[in-house]
Amino acid sequence: MCSHYEDLIGQKFNRLIVLKFSHINKYQKACLECLCDCGNKTIVIASQLKHGYVKSCGCLLKEIISKRSKKHGLSTHPLYSVWYSMIRRCYNKNGIEYKNYGARGIKVCECWHKFENFYEDMKNSYNTLELDRIDNNDNYYLENCRWVNKKIQARNRRSNVNITYKNRTQCLQDWANELNMKFNLLWERLFRLNWSIIKSFETPIRSTKRLITFNNETLCIKEWAEKYGISSELLVNRLRLGWNFERAIIIPLRNKK
Ligand SMILES: [Zn+2]
Repeated sequence: MCSHYEDLIGQKFNRLIVLKFSHINKYQKACLECLCDCGNKTIVIASQLKHGYVKSCGCLLKEIISKRSKKHGLSTHPLYSVWYSMIRRCYNKNGIEYKNYGARGIKVCECWHKFENFYEDMKNSYNTLELDRIDNNDNYYLENCRWVNKKIQARNRRSNVNITYKNRTQCLQDWANELNMKFNLLWERLFRLNWSIIKSFETPIRSTKRLITFNNETLCIKEWAEKYGISSELLVNRLRLGWNFERAIIIPLRNKK
C-alpha cells in the first residue's frame, strides 16, 4: 500500500513537499505527510494533493483572508475617511475645499499618498479628533500634522480664508495683522454679520469704552457702575432694554425672593 505512493515522495505540489506516506483514513483514502513552504508539517489526502485541491498546510488561505480583511478593515477604519478627505482637499479640483488647499499649493507628502503609510504614522495618535496642519501654509506630512478638536480646527481654517482686497489676496490672518485689527472682529463682520469686505475692513473699530455724561460728569459704563454699586453687566443690560440712564443706575437691583 505504502509503496504505491513511494514515487510521490520528494515531489512538490504547490507549497507542499511530500515527506512520506502517513496512513489510510477511515474513508479509505491514502494520507501523506507533507512539509509546507511555511515550515509546518501537515497530513493531506493524496488525491486532493495531486489534484490541487490542497495547496498548503492552510497558510495560503489564511494569507488570502487576512489580506482581504486587512484591506476591507482599513477602508472602514475612521482614519480612511480622514485620509481620503485630505487627499481630496489637495488634489480634487472639483472639490469645494480645493480652493483653500490644493489651489494654495498644499500637498500631501509622497509617502502618505498610500493610505497604509498614513495609517501606520497616525493610527496611534488618532482619537476621533480632526487632522490638522500645525503650519496652515505647509503641506500634510507627519511633522506638520496633529489631531485637534473641531473648534481649534475651525479657527485655524477660518484664519486660512483667502480674501481679496484692493487687488491683493491673502489670508484673513494676514489682513488682520496688516490692518492692525483683531482677527475675530474681522471674521465676525465678514461671516457672522455678512458685511462686505470693504465695510468689514474699513469700518473703524468702535471704541469699547462707551462714555456717558450724567449730572455734568462723564464716565465710562464700568466707572458709572462702580460709582453706583451695581454691576456693569446689569447697567449694560438695562440700557439695552431702553431704560434711560438715570433710571438704569439709580433703581436698585430687585431683591430675588
Ligand atoms: Zn504552510
